[in-house]
Amino acid sequence: MELRDSLTSIKGIGPKKAECFSRLGIETLEDLIFTFPRIYEDRRNVRTISQLEPEEDAVFSGTVDIIRPGGLKGKGRRVVKMLISDDTGSIEVVFFNAAYLAKTVHIGDVLTFFGKPQMNNERLQVIHPQFEKTDNAQTGIIPIYPLTRGISQREMRRLQTKLKPLYAKADNILSNATIEKNKLCNLEFALENLHFPQDREKFLQSKYRMVFEEFLVLQAGLQMSKADQKNTGPGACCSIKGAEQEYIDAMPYPLTKAQRRVTDEIISDLEGRKMMNRLLQGDVGSGKTAVAEIAIYKAVKSGWQAVMMAPTEILASQHFAGFKESFSKFGMNVGFLTGSMKTGEKREVLEKLAAGDIDILVGTHAVIQPEVEFAKLGLVITDEQHRFGVNQRIRLKEKGENPNVLVMTATPIPRTLAVVLYGDMDVSVIDEMPPGRQPVKTICTSDDSGRKACYDFVERQIRQGHQIYVVTPLIDQSEAMDAKSAQEVYEELRKRFEKTALIHGAMKQSEKDEIMAKFNDGKIDILVATVLIEVGINVPNATVMVIENAERFGLAQMHQLRGRVGRGVHQSYCYLLIGNESELALKRGEIMTNSTDGFYIAEEDLKIRGPGEIFGTRQHGLPDMKLADMARHLNVLADARDEARRLLEEDSGMEKEENQPLKRRIIKLFGEDFSLNL
Ligand code: ADP
Ligand code: MG
Repeated sequence: MELRDSLTSIKGIGPKKAECFSRLGIETLEDLIFTFPRIYEDRRNVRTISQLEPEEDAVFSGTVDIIRPGGLKGKGRRVVKMLISDDTGSIEVVFFNAAYLAKTVHIGDVLTFFGKPQMNNERLQVIHPQFEKTDNAQTGIIPIYPLTRGISQREMRRLQTKLKPLYAKADNILSNATIEKNKLCNLEFALENLHFPQDREKFLQSKYRMVFEEFLVLQAGLQMSKADQKNTGPGACCSIKGAEQEYIDAMPYPLTKAQRRVTDEIISDLEGRKMMNRLLQGDVGSGKTAVAEIAIYKAVKSGWQAVMMAPTEILASQHFAGFKESFSKFGMNVGFLTGSMKTGEKREVLEKLAAGDIDILVGTHAVIQPEVEFAKLGLVITDEQHRFGVNQRIRLKEKGENPNVLVMTATPIPRTLAVVLYGDMDVSVIDEMPPGRQPVKTICTSDDSGRKACYDFVERQIRQGHQIYVVTPLIDQSEAMDAKSAQEVYEELRKRFEKTALIHGAMKQSEKDEIMAKFNDGKIDILVATVLIEVGINVPNATVMVIENAERFGLAQMHQLRGRVGRGVHQSYCYLLIGNESELALKRGEIMTNSTDGFYIAEEDLKIRGPGEIFGTRQHGLPDMKLADMARHLNVLADARDEARRLLEEDSGMEKEENQPLKRRIIKLFGEDFSLNL
């Protein structure tokens, strides 16, 4: 048995089973031993039947004396009752909806149960306990693994037990120095106690080690890439003082106080000799783009080129249109680049860019392709930063000698997490909305009459000359049974509202552009869309955002969507139509109705979902982690960061023999194109 052997090398696992495991990302024996339990069940409280107490989880064994397949009860649930006894007494065990039990359990069987007894008519009873034949039953602390269809908990545990001898061979990536300095347990011990914990103390020690290890890989990787960024000399300096004022004076509105403040911060970065490396945070609609424009103007005036990368084509083309209008009057040339452009068009843009004839480039991630070359890139801006990965951010920056960097995001990031993700960045926050904005009124409804009222309201708004977004979670019906598709909603609305259009991600770019242009020009009243309009779109005349099947959207997403309206002077509205009512959906609806503050909503989201999901690394373009949880394990994170610093101070290129396993893991985690050459 070797670590890299495939699962099928185990007796009893054929190609079919292997496919099930593959769904969990498990291909080899090594993958399996690094698949850790989700949670554990404490089955150490073994009791005789007479010792059982109400409301206390316990394990007990006994013989089946009576099985009574009861009649139908309530909503057609078939109740099966059993009487279980041991030397000390007997107790009733009840299963609902369990006709199958009559076939698998027989009188005289000896079973072990795990459950919580409850009082019922002054007698103890256990409802729906877990049970096993006593011969197979496990007590102690029982691991509960993540599963997928076709794999049972019992099977998983059996396999894990079988693989115990491999623990000693598992790849240890930590050097002895790291283990000693941080008082970590060894890998074999950690694996043993994560799968089969003997007690809480040993389990916690083991978990600490594995979380530490994951964070160390992450931190060392990030720090190496940052060191890489720092080594490149002075930044693109924009020394002409006050050059931006001309642009600010020409803007159609005065800056808000918050915009003024962050503009000053950015300008002083740009004028300084050190390159700017700044994160600009601000809620949807707070006016980040305006600030970005000022920075662009300043850079171009100082003789540099600027680039702005946006996460979607729609958003990129909107920025492009806006920039053309703002900058052409100053004689600045704006170029546009996306993946879906024709080769000829693309070539022309690339040539002009390399020759320095384009001052400002706007585009999607197409702008980081290798063939894109700038003559003199001095400012790099990433919009809706959280949509891009660390790698993409770095690659964009490498298009210039040592350009100034501004990343913008509407996703509130807690301070602690920002330190990890953007370690050496300065942070600016726009914490104020432009004047005249009335908060969007939000209405949440989960029944047919509410939905009808919503579209009646939509009709009145259209009559007043306003425009409407309707967002659905899906494109077409084949994707799921219980949610309305964009297509379906479109067909329905078109009957009632003549000027309705549909837009979704699977459409050709030219079609999308055409529809967006029409919506912009007010030729379309209702735009039915999938989430693709989530970020950035700006049509101030749109006053209603209808979210169909709102239960399928997370809070952060709904907040972003709602930010598409209320961008002009008109009172705007957001309707959350809940199709499939659940406690969670209603709770989210309530939060949305009560607040329009992105930071508050993010906090509530955190409470509902738990930190793991919301600050999940995936959203921020970082590699996924198995056990580590940024928000919950902050102390471990700090320890790992310090250790990574220590390691890199001693061995900046990770060349030492003892650091090779760690380096290999870093490369594996961050991917091949992650720049590690210092
Ligand atoms: P963000 O990118 O932060 O979501 P935008 O930059 O798209 O926000 O700005 C949203 C809207 O507010 C735009 O229509 C923009 O023209 C307008 N706007 C920006 N700054 C101001 C301001 N100081 N006063 C009035 N309107 C503003
Ligand atoms: Mg924006």
